[in-house]
Amino acid sequence: MAIHVLSQDVVAQIAAGEVVERPTSVVKELLENSLDAGARHIRLSITGDGRKRIQISDDGCGIEAAEIELAFLRHATSKLETASDLYRIQTLGFRGEALASIASVSQIKLTSRNQAENIGTALVVEGGEIRQRKPVGVPAGTVITVENLFYNTPARLKFLKGEMSEKRQIASVVTRYAMAYPQVAFHLEQDGREVFRTNGSGNLADVIVNALGLDHLKNMVEVDDSHNDMAVYGFASAPSLNRADRSRITLFVNGRYVQDTGLTHAVVQAYHTLLMTGRYPIAILMLTLNPEDVDVNVHPTKAEIRFRDHDAAFSAMQRAVRRAIIGGAQTPTMRGQAPQYHQFEEQQRLELPMESPGQHARQRMQPDYAENDDDPTAIPIGLGQPAQPRTLPMLRVVGQIAASYIVAEAPAGMYLVDQHAAHERILYEQFMAEYTRQKTVAQLALTPESVQVAPAEARLIEEKLPLLSELGFQLEPFGPNIFIVRAVPAILSDVEPSELIRGIIDDLEQGNKPGMESIEDKIVMRVCKQAAVKAGQVLSYEQMQGLIRQLERCQSPLTCPHGRPTMIHMSNDRLAREFGRLGA
Ligand code: ADP
Ligand code: MG
Repeated sequence: MAIHVLSQDVVAQIAAGEVVERPTSVVKELLENSLDAGARHIRLSITGDGRKRIQISDDGCGIEAAEIELAFLRHATSKLETASDLYRIQTLGFRGEALASIASVSQIKLTSRNQAENIGTALVVEGGEIRQRKPVGVPAGTVITVENLFYNTPARLKFLKGEMSEKRQIASVVTRYAMAYPQVAFHLEQDGREVFRTNGSGNLADVIVNALGLDHLKNMVEVDDSHNDMAVYGFASAPSLNRADRSRITLFVNGRYVQDTGLTHAVVQAYHTLLMTGRYPIAILMLTLNPEDVDVNVHPTKAEIRFRDHDAAFSAMQRAVRRAIIGGAQTPTMRGQAPQYHQFEEQQRLELPMESPGQHARQRMQPDYAENDDDPTAIPIGLGQPAQPRTLPMLRVVGQIAASYIVAEAPAGMYLVDQHAAHERILYEQFMAEYTRQKTVAQLALTPESVQVAPAEARLIEEKLPLLSELGFQLEPFGPNIFIVRAVPAILSDVEPSELIRGIIDDLEQGNKPGMESIEDKIVMRVCKQAAVKAGQVLSYEQMQGLIRQLERCQSPLTCPHGRPTMIHMSNDRLAREFGRLGA
């Protein structure tokens, strides 16, 4: 279709388009144009946060010389003609606004040659005005350079977040499109450094390796299911690979990245009973359905869509993912190792408080203590109790139950100690003591391991390298999105480096949210959690004794760093009453 200006009545029916508000939106719009042009190779080069310079080149169909100025007019598009076309949109763009909006707030150089023409055109546009136009010899395709974004609207600049955050956003956007279009080879350069590339092989798995690392892919299962007119394809993590929030659930509908709470929920639902509460899977999933069954014309950034039959989309998604992860348990579909289900089941059985054998006892015993304060030597323990310095009586270890709890006694009665929580507390206080004394807590890795992360995550880690090194993590950037783990906090030397990095990224991302613990706190707590003995680990008598002695030396031995109790106490009186030896 030739580029033409849409009629007023069609324009009136288009959901109000968003003005270009930040460099990331420019990148997104330009990428969409290249993809709509059928490009097989897309190269992006960004300087700084993108305000200085964004350049994109593609080998798509190119713009005809006669239409090149038209492309910069508002509501000029080659992708839509009548209002009814709005109900069967197959392209990413359709409003004809992006180039006009970008051009009005920047300086653009564009060269393009249409496949059917022999000579291309070069255009210079400044603040929306065409300054120069001349024929040039260029390969078929389009190169657009956007410079000095917002140079003429200084007010807009103020609202931009820091440069790092913008760099990260750009990397995420490019990564997402690369996932949605595995048949297109993407190449992203930031400040002259290649940070991401895909080979255009058409395999989503290849893109995931480049975007998230082989390590992730190995722990994901392929999802491939279709039902009626809906198909779901992609990869979803085995339950053992999970994150603290939903942000790693990436969804596409008909090649368009969408943020749809319902669909995201469908993915989470597919893991019902397979993930601990508060943990979410990593998934990259594409839902394909008839374009007429989905309305993309509802949101300014087109990130939200409306389904004709939302329930059908929901169940298609949920069923496809559920089948894949359940099926994945028996038949590993991925090359490489099988998903680690056994490990997961164990973890779930032993770490979920609701399912742990000691829980019933705790539920029964705990409320009683609040009102039953008759024993002056008893240590009041309750969930709401603030962690304050308190000394423990000398405890004599009796034994271990459920490979999770240490039974101990003191003159004041019986104590049940949660070995994991107690160890977390011990490590936390040790770590904090060393940290505040500025003692180095790092331990050099004997064989430094490399860990690959997503481009946006890599930028985030780079930003926080000094903080991480203070905490004992020495990570050395190595290649675009790879870090060599040179040293980790000494107490973590047994934990898998990739697991450590994954946890840190979680913390760094969460740490950015207001009203939460500081990033340092989060990282320290996680470190202690990862290093602590697990529930389900059988301990020798000496190990239990060692743990109890160390707990006795803690400042706040009664709670773990997260505020949960490390032990429950049953007084001698209480025991006697329970056995009917003492009147109530
Ligand atoms: P829309 O994408 O909604 O049509 P844009 O303002 O983004 O609106 O682009 C206007 C028109 O310019 C497009 O419809 C398309 O015909 C042409 N165009 C823009 N970028 C490219 C490109 N990279 N390759 C080929 N044509 C392009
Ligand atoms: Mg467009």
